Amino acid sequence: MSKLLVFLLVLFAIYWVRRLLTKPKTPPPAGPTAREPQASMRMLSCRRCGVHVPESEGVQRGGDFYCCEEHARGGH
Ligand SMILES: [Zn+2]
Repeated sequence: MSKLLVFLLVLFAIYWVRRLLTKPKTPPPAGPTAREPQASMRMLSCRRCGVHVPESEGVQRGGDFYCCEEHARGGH
């Protein structure tokens, strides 16, 4: 019977030590990346119609920005 008790004590000790070793992780404070908008979310205005669209959704053509492929093709 005492063997079982020792076994349980050892199990508990291992559990306790592991709990001490694994410290609770605190969420990191919001970094600078959380505040500044990502490059893909920059709003640019279409050269043709002037509508503002996210840079990732528009079309870059010849240094100019267009809201869609059609306006980029239509050009000036
Ligand atoms: Zn446009």
